[in-house]
Amino acid sequence: MIDSLHQEIRSKIQAAQRILVVTHIRPDGDAIGSLLGLGLALQQAGKTVQMVCEDGIPQTFHYLPGSSDIRSQPSGTFDMTIVVDCSDLNRVGNALNGYNVPDLNVDHHITNLQYARLNLVDPLAVATAEILAKNLGVWGLPLTTEVAASLLTGLITDTLGFRTANVTPETLRLVASLMETGVDLSQIYMRSMVQRSFEAVRFWGAGLSRLEREDSLVWATLTMADRQASGYKGRDDADLINILSAIHGAEIALVFVEQPNGNVKVSWRSQSGYDVSQVAMLFGGGGHPSAAGAEIKGNLEEVRRQVLYETKKLLQTRS
Ligand code: 5GP
Ligand code: MN
Repeated sequence: MIDSLHQEIRSKIQAAQRILVVTHIRPDGDAIGSLLGLGLALQQAGKTVQMVCEDGIPQTFHYLPGSSDIRSQPSGTFDMTIVVDCSDLNRVGNALNGYNVPDLNVDHHITNLQYARLNLVDPLAVATAEILAKNLGVWGLPLTTEVAASLLTGLITDTLGFRTANVTPETLRLVASLMETGVDLSQIYMRSMVQRSFEAVRFWGAGLSRLEREDSLVWATLTMADRQASGYKGRDDADLINILSAIHGAEIALVFVEQPNGNVKVSWRSQSGYDVSQVAMLFGGGGHPSAAGAEIKGNLEEVRRQVLYETKKLLQTRS
């Protein structure tokens, strides 16, 4: 027996021939893994699929089969539009301008705004890729080695290599079932979590050289000048936030990344149960209780001042 939401998703997929799958700007491993995992499964079921991410695909994920088919804008018309790993539609950038309300929203963010006709949102899932791995079969789609490689990338990256507090025996059983398709866990783990480009590590260096701390708050700033000097191509922080959140005693870690459009991208990570998604929401962003982000209008100094002020207020709720 499958419930009525899954029944509707399955029927909609079966009836559609041209399908658009979209994920968020500044894509991470779960965004790309979910986009490709679902996109390839649909292709292998005989559908004509366009996979879209406005920012394209980061170098880190070029190892994934099908990654070169990801495009920055859709073209033409579709029978079905699916958005993956996005809590709101601002996250897709301009990719859906001129298109109707999406048919399906598959996501695991607690801050999801339920913006599609069908919303499959599970905040308990460790990754959007987990929701897909559990349900592709229910929707009549194949879970091939290529599909499994993409979904495993999403599961590994959103759990930081299976070390976040939400990983359960069930997560690892799902990973085991993906491995049984023949996918190489060790290789995917190395490529997605460990190996970084020379330019990305130089970019970290610029941020780390200006690391700051106040009580249990630590933060770093990455400017456009740092990005140019390092040669790093992405608009994100190249995962510098993961290094900051490893600092002993850092209850909340923050990274500020100056953007080419004059905005500032902020990332929050927290320990001990501080819910940073609430602070991110104040600035128009969102995410999870322990990992959140926002893109904020304003210059670097002003955004940093306001964000530090609001984040310190959250820390004071318990001191
Ligand atoms: P990151 O800091 O790695 O960009 O993102 C951390 C979490 O917050 C991710 O789950 C991501 O999807 C979410 N997030 C990051 N930036 C934004 C944003 O601008 N808007 C929303 N709604 N969520 C975001
Ligand atoms: Mn995710």
